[in-house]
Amino acid sequence: YKVNSYRDTWIEVDVNAIADNVKAVKTLHHPDVHVMAVVKADGYGHGAITVARTAIESGAEWVGVALLEEALELREAGIDVPILILGPIHPQDASVAQRYRIAVTAFQQEWLAEAGSYLDPDPPLHVHLKCDTGMGRIGLTDEQTLLNMIKLLKQDKRFEMTGIFTHLATADEWGSDYLSRQLKAFQSFVLLAKEAAGHIPYVHYSNSAASLRYPGNDYNMIRFGISMYGLVPAVETASDIPVPLKPAMSLHSRLTHVKKVQPATFISYGATYQANEEEWIGTVPIGYGDGWLRANATNGGEVLVEGKRCPIVGRICMDQMMIRLPEKAPVGTKVTLIGKQEREEISIEEVSERLSTITYEIPCTLNARIPRVYK
Ligand code: PLP
Repeated sequence: YKVNSYRDTWIEVDVNAIADNVKAVKTLHHPDVHVMAVVKADGYGHGAITVARTAIESGAEWVGVALLEEALELREAGIDVPILILGPIHPQDASVAQRYRIAVTAFQQEWLAEAGSYLDPDPPLHVHLKCDTGMGRIGLTDEQTLLNMIKLLKQDKRFEMTGIFTHLATADEWGSDYLSRQLKAFQSFVLLAKEAAGHIPYVHYSNSAASLRYPGNDYNMIRFGISMYGLVPAVETASDIPVPLKPAMSLHSRLTHVKKVQPATFISYGATYQANEEEWIGTVPIGYGDGWLRANATNGGEVLVEGKRCPIVGRICMDQMMIRLPEKAPVGTKVTLIGKQEREEISIEEVSERLSTITYEIPCTLNARIPRVYK
């Protein structure tokens, strides 16, 4: 692939994988269930615009983001489908959302009153009410607030209530007691909201884990994030996912220097690695300045060269790191840090376990210094 940059490190995003993952989750749900493609944090590091376009072509009707600027970026790129900002925005910015027909999340009475003072007469600002049923992050927690907010929304024609939703805290774990409690709490909020508001076009609560593990529970929209990128929400419950997921992201680089070192030679800052014998050491131009964290050198961190696993040796620097090669390899040889080479594969799941974290954090931390190439 032609990489539009001067450096030898790049991320490949397989858009067909994203398309297939969207189609796969749709097979689990009633045709009336809408898919919201969640592309916050620049599409979990994959590139929000391309991911949104791909998801829409594959049947997603909504796009979800966290920030107003993320929504505006999509509008500027010509993406015209409904967008919901899942996080809070300042009331004084409500008019920006209104102008660009971006739906917002509301959960405080005062926010509605204040946002109202900034709105133009039309078009109405679409509002999804957020209920906190056990996530403890944002959301209204009591019925009176829900009813008061619906009353305000009904009175003021500059608002239109188009949705109600909640977010699950444990859908990716074994055991569903907590999830059942959240579902029950949400059911009573929805019942009450419908009595007060009449028809509510979008009622949604499933994230990837719930939409894959508990299909059928989802009202009429799922918010599909991590698994659209082909990643499991949690490695522990991966076996519970009924459709194949195709990872979209792979990470590659090329050897910039290769040398044979003598026994007892030290490598990298702190001289923490010492060659046992004569060894071939390769230098790879990626480091923590790219979001390739230093901890990748610990817990047996490996990369692939010519289809073989090679250990990362010594500390990872800001822009470079070293690996031990089984034999001499030419400068320019491809190094795969995430993805497949021949019969070997290093998955994002493997990297997340190496770093004692979740899959989500890996593509999100690989920063904009690494060019994304779409295929
Ligand atoms: N809905 C909300 C409110 C979220 O914050 C997120 C992401 O964390 C999602 C949906 C998508 O979740 P997932 O990536 O687990 O599918």
